[in-house]
Amino acid sequence: MDIIQLQDVSKTYGNKGILRGVNLAVRAGEFVVLCGESGAGKSTLLNLIGGLERSSGGRIIVDGKEINQMSAKERTDFYRHEVGIIFQGSYLQPQFTLFENITLPGVFAGMPEGERKERAGQLAQMLGISENLKFLPKEVSGGQAERACIARALLLNPKIILADEPTSNLDEANAEIVLQILNLIRVQMGVTIIIASHSRDVIKYATQVVTVAGRTAQSNATSGVGANAA
Ligand code: ADP
Repeated sequence: MDIIQLQDVSKTYGNKGILRGVNLAVRAGEFVVLCGESGAGKSTLLNLIGGLERSSGGRIIVDGKEINQMSAKERTDFYRHEVGIIFQGSYLQPQFTLFENITLPGVFAGMPEGERKERAGQLAQMLGISENLKFLPKEVSGGQAERACIARALLLNPKIILADEPTSNLDEANAEIVLQILNLIRVQMGVTIIIASHSRDVIKYATQVVTVAGRTAQSNATSGVGANAA
Protein backbone atom coordinates (compact mmCIF):
# COMPACT_ATOMS: atom_id res chain seq x y z
CA MET A 1 0.00 0.00 0.00
CA ASP A 2 1.18 3.53 -0.75
CA ILE A 3 1.37 5.47 2.48
CA ILE A 4 2.25 8.67 0.62
CA GLN A 5 1.08 9.76 -2.82
CA LEU A 6 1.79 13.03 -4.55
CA GLN A 7 -0.05 13.69 -7.78
CA ASP A 8 1.00 16.57 -10.01
CA VAL A 9 2.04 18.65 -7.01
CA SER A 10 3.35 22.14 -7.49
CA LYS A 11 4.66 24.80 -5.14
CA THR A 12 5.30 28.42 -5.85
CA TYR A 13 6.40 31.23 -3.58
CA GLY A 14 4.91 34.37 -5.04
CA ASN A 15 5.71 34.02 -8.72
CA LYS A 16 8.76 31.86 -8.05
CA GLY A 17 8.13 28.24 -9.09
CA ILE A 18 9.89 25.77 -6.80
CA LEU A 19 8.26 22.43 -7.61
CA ARG A 20 6.17 21.48 -10.61
CA GLY A 21 4.43 18.27 -11.66
CA VAL A 22 5.78 16.20 -8.79
CA ASN A 23 4.49 12.63 -8.72
CA LEU A 24 5.63 10.37 -5.95
CA ALA A 25 4.43 7.08 -4.51
CA VAL A 26 5.93 5.69 -1.33
CA ARG A 27 4.97 2.31 0.08
CA ALA A 28 4.79 1.79 3.83
CA GLY A 29 8.12 0.77 5.32
CA GLU A 30 10.37 2.28 2.66
CA PHE A 31 13.52 4.28 3.41
CA VAL A 32 13.28 7.16 0.95
CA VAL A 33 16.17 9.53 0.34
CA LEU A 34 15.44 12.84 -1.36
CA CYS A 35 18.68 13.98 -2.87
CA GLY A 36 19.68 16.90 -5.03
CA GLU A 37 21.55 20.14 -4.88
CA SER A 38 21.02 22.76 -2.27
CA GLY A 39 18.03 24.89 -3.28
CA ALA A 40 16.50 22.14 -5.45
CA GLY A 41 13.38 21.91 -3.30
CA LYS A 42 14.02 18.94 -0.97
CA SER A 43 12.99 20.77 2.19
CA THR A 44 9.99 22.20 0.41
CA LEU A 45 8.91 18.68 -0.56
CA LEU A 46 9.29 17.48 3.04
CA ASN A 47 7.30 20.46 4.30
CA LEU A 48 4.49 19.64 1.88
CA ILE A 49 4.41 15.97 2.86
CA GLY A 50 4.55 16.94 6.54
CA GLY A 51 1.65 19.36 6.19
CA LEU A 52 3.79 22.29 7.33
CA GLU A 53 3.07 24.08 4.09
CA ARG A 54 0.25 23.86 1.57
CA SER A 55 0.88 22.97 -2.03
CA SER A 56 -0.03 25.42 -4.78
CA GLY A 57 -1.59 22.62 -6.86
CA GLY A 58 -2.05 18.87 -7.12
CA ARG A 59 -3.02 16.26 -4.55
CA ILE A 60 -1.12 15.01 -1.51
CA ILE A 61 -2.51 11.85 0.06
CA VAL A 62 -1.00 10.62 3.32
CA ASP A 63 -2.22 7.34 4.79
CA GLY A 64 -5.36 7.50 2.66
CA LYS A 65 -6.27 11.09 3.54
CA GLU A 66 -6.08 13.99 1.15
CA ILE A 67 -4.54 16.73 3.20
CA ASN A 68 -5.80 19.70 1.21
CA GLN A 69 -9.34 18.67 2.07
CA MET A 70 -8.83 18.72 5.82
CA SER A 71 -9.62 21.67 8.05
CA ALA A 72 -6.67 23.26 9.84
CA LYS A 73 -7.61 21.49 13.08
CA GLU A 74 -8.04 18.11 11.41
CA ARG A 75 -4.67 18.54 9.75
CA THR A 76 -2.93 19.41 13.03
CA ASP A 77 -4.44 16.38 14.81
CA PHE A 78 -3.67 14.11 11.90
CA TYR A 79 -0.05 15.14 11.63
CA ARG A 80 0.56 15.12 15.35
CA HIS A 81 -0.13 11.41 15.40
CA GLU A 82 0.81 10.34 11.92
CA VAL A 83 4.14 12.01 11.29
CA GLY A 84 7.27 12.50 13.38
CA ILE A 85 9.50 15.35 12.28
CA ILE A 86 13.25 15.68 12.70
CA PHE A 87 14.07 18.99 11.07
CA GLN A 88 17.15 21.15 11.32
CA GLY A 89 15.08 23.83 13.01
CA SER A 90 13.48 21.42 15.47
CA TYR A 91 16.15 21.74 18.11
CA LEU A 92 15.66 20.56 21.64
CA GLN A 93 14.41 23.17 24.07
CA PRO A 94 17.60 24.23 25.90
CA GLN A 95 15.91 24.85 29.25
CA PHE A 96 14.37 21.37 29.41
CA THR A 97 16.05 18.04 30.14
CA LEU A 98 16.17 15.38 27.43
CA PHE A 99 13.34 13.56 29.23
CA GLU A 100 11.17 16.69 29.21
CA ASN A 101 11.98 17.35 25.56
CA ILE A 102 11.13 13.81 24.51
CA THR A 103 7.82 13.78 26.39
CA LEU A 104 6.68 17.26 25.30
CA PRO A 105 4.62 16.10 22.27
CA GLY A 106 2.78 13.76 24.67
CA VAL A 107 1.88 16.70 26.90
CA PHE A 108 0.36 18.57 23.94
CA ALA A 109 -1.45 15.46 22.73
CA GLY A 110 -2.94 14.75 26.18
CA MET A 111 -1.05 11.50 26.73
CA PRO A 112 -1.31 10.46 30.41
CA GLU A 113 1.84 11.09 32.44
CA GLY A 114 2.46 7.40 33.22
CA GLU A 115 2.30 6.52 29.55
CA ARG A 116 4.63 9.37 28.62
CA LYS A 117 7.18 8.15 31.15
CA GLU A 118 6.94 4.55 30.03
CA ARG A 119 7.17 5.37 26.35
CA ALA A 120 10.10 7.78 26.83
CA GLY A 121 11.89 5.14 28.90
CA GLN A 122 11.43 2.49 26.20
CA LEU A 123 12.59 4.81 23.43
CA ALA A 124 15.59 6.04 25.41
CA GLN A 125 16.62 2.45 26.00
CA MET A 126 16.25 1.58 22.34
CA LEU A 127 18.26 4.63 21.33
CA GLY A 128 20.94 4.19 24.00
CA ILE A 129 20.33 7.44 25.89
CA SER A 130 18.77 6.13 29.13
CA GLU A 131 21.66 7.54 31.14
CA ASN A 132 21.28 11.00 29.60
CA LEU A 133 17.61 11.69 30.23
CA LYS A 134 18.11 13.93 33.26
CA PHE A 135 20.56 16.22 31.51
CA LEU A 136 20.01 19.43 29.59
CA PRO A 137 20.81 19.40 25.84
CA LYS A 138 24.02 21.40 26.40
CA GLU A 139 25.24 18.70 28.80
CA VAL A 140 25.12 15.87 26.23
CA SER A 141 26.93 15.17 22.95
CA GLY A 142 25.58 16.13 19.52
CA GLY A 143 24.87 12.48 18.76
CA GLN A 144 22.96 12.02 22.01
CA ALA A 145 20.95 15.19 21.36
CA GLU A 146 20.11 13.93 17.86
CA ARG A 147 18.93 10.62 19.32
CA ALA A 148 16.72 12.58 21.73
CA CYS A 149 15.23 14.36 18.67
CA ILE A 150 14.49 10.94 17.17
CA ALA A 151 12.91 9.75 20.43
CA ARG A 152 10.75 12.88 20.54
CA ALA A 153 9.66 12.30 16.94
CA LEU A 154 8.70 8.70 17.82
CA LEU A 155 6.85 9.42 21.06
CA LEU A 156 3.35 9.36 19.56
CA ASN A 157 4.02 6.25 17.45
CA PRO A 158 4.01 7.90 14.02
CA LYS A 159 3.80 5.86 10.83
CA ILE A 160 6.12 8.23 9.01
CA ILE A 161 9.35 9.99 10.01
CA LEU A 162 10.44 13.01 8.00
CA ALA A 163 14.03 14.11 8.51
CA ASP A 164 15.80 17.09 6.94
CA GLU A 165 19.58 16.62 6.83
CA PRO A 166 19.55 14.76 10.16
CA THR A 167 23.26 14.01 10.04
CA SER A 168 24.62 17.32 8.79
CA ASN A 169 25.86 18.49 12.20
CA LEU A 170 27.33 15.15 13.25
CA ASP A 171 30.75 13.59 12.82
CA GLU A 172 30.97 10.48 10.67
CA ALA A 173 30.67 7.97 13.51
CA ASN A 174 27.62 9.63 15.04
CA ALA A 175 26.04 10.14 11.61
CA GLU A 176 26.34 6.41 10.99
CA ILE A 177 24.77 5.58 14.37
CA VAL A 178 21.83 7.89 13.69
CA LEU A 179 21.26 6.33 10.24
CA GLN A 180 21.45 2.83 11.69
CA ILE A 181 18.88 3.80 14.30
CA LEU A 182 16.52 5.21 11.68
CA ASN A 183 16.90 2.04 9.64
CA LEU A 184 16.25 -0.09 12.72
CA ILE A 185 13.06 1.85 13.39
CA ARG A 186 12.00 1.10 9.83
CA VAL A 187 12.82 -2.59 10.02
CA GLN A 188 11.53 -3.27 13.54
CA MET A 189 8.56 -0.93 13.69
CA GLY A 190 7.66 -0.62 10.02
CA VAL A 191 7.95 3.18 10.14
CA THR A 192 8.36 4.83 6.73
CA ILE A 193 11.45 7.04 6.69
CA ILE A 194 11.88 10.01 4.37
CA ILE A 195 15.18 11.85 4.54
CA ALA A 196 16.37 14.88 2.60
CA SER A 197 20.12 14.72 2.36
CA HIS A 198 22.99 15.34 0.03
CA SER A 199 25.26 12.98 1.94
CA ARG A 200 26.35 9.88 0.06
CA ASP A 201 26.43 7.90 3.30
CA VAL A 202 22.66 8.17 3.56
CA ILE A 203 22.05 6.61 0.14
CA LYS A 204 23.25 3.17 1.17
CA TYR A 205 20.25 2.82 3.49
CA ALA A 206 17.76 3.90 0.82
CA THR A 207 15.19 1.54 -0.62
CA GLN A 208 13.99 4.39 -2.83
CA VAL A 209 15.99 7.36 -4.09
CA VAL A 210 14.28 10.46 -5.43
CA THR A 211 16.42 13.06 -7.11
CA VAL A 212 15.10 16.60 -6.95
CA ALA A 213 17.28 18.54 -9.37
CA GLY A 214 16.40 21.53 -11.50
CA ARG A 215 14.44 20.69 -14.63
CA THR A 216 15.91 17.25 -15.04
CA ALA A 217 14.55 15.67 -11.89
CA GLN A 218 14.88 11.95 -11.93
CA SER A 219 13.67 9.12 -9.80
CA ASN A 220 15.26 5.87 -9.25
CA ALA A 221 13.26 3.58 -7.12
CA THR A 222 12.04 0.17 -6.13
CA SER A 223 8.50 1.42 -6.69
CA GLY A 224 7.08 3.85 -9.23
CA VAL A 225 8.15 7.36 -8.38
CA GLY A 226 8.58 10.61 -10.17
CA ALA A 227 9.60 13.99 -8.89
CA ASN A 228 10.13 17.10 -10.93
CA ALA A 229 11.40 20.38 -9.70
CA ALA A 230 10.21 23.43 -11.61
P1 ADP B 1 16.70 22.31 -0.60
O1 ADP B 1 16.08 21.71 0.62
O2 ADP B 1 16.78 21.33 -1.74
O3 ADP B 1 18.00 22.96 -0.33
P2 ADP B 1 14.57 24.23 -0.41
O4 ADP B 1 13.32 23.44 -0.49
O5 ADP B 1 15.02 24.67 0.94
O6 ADP B 1 15.72 23.44 -1.16
O7 ADP B 1 14.43 25.53 -1.30
C1 ADP B 1 14.04 25.49 -2.66
C2 ADP B 1 13.89 26.89 -3.18
O8 ADP B 1 12.77 27.50 -2.57
C3 ADP B 1 15.08 27.79 -2.90
O9 ADP B 1 15.31 28.58 -4.03
C4 ADP B 1 14.61 28.65 -1.75
O10 ADP B 1 15.23 29.90 -1.78
C5 ADP B 1 13.12 28.74 -2.02
N1 ADP B 1 12.31 28.93 -0.79
C6 ADP B 1 12.22 28.06 0.23
N2 ADP B 1 11.37 28.53 1.18
C7 ADP B 1 10.93 29.72 0.73
C8 ADP B 1 10.01 30.72 1.25
N3 ADP B 1 9.39 30.55 2.43
N4 ADP B 1 9.79 31.81 0.49
C9 ADP B 1 10.39 31.98 -0.72
N5 ADP B 1 11.25 31.09 -1.26
C10 ADP B 1 11.52 29.99 -0.55
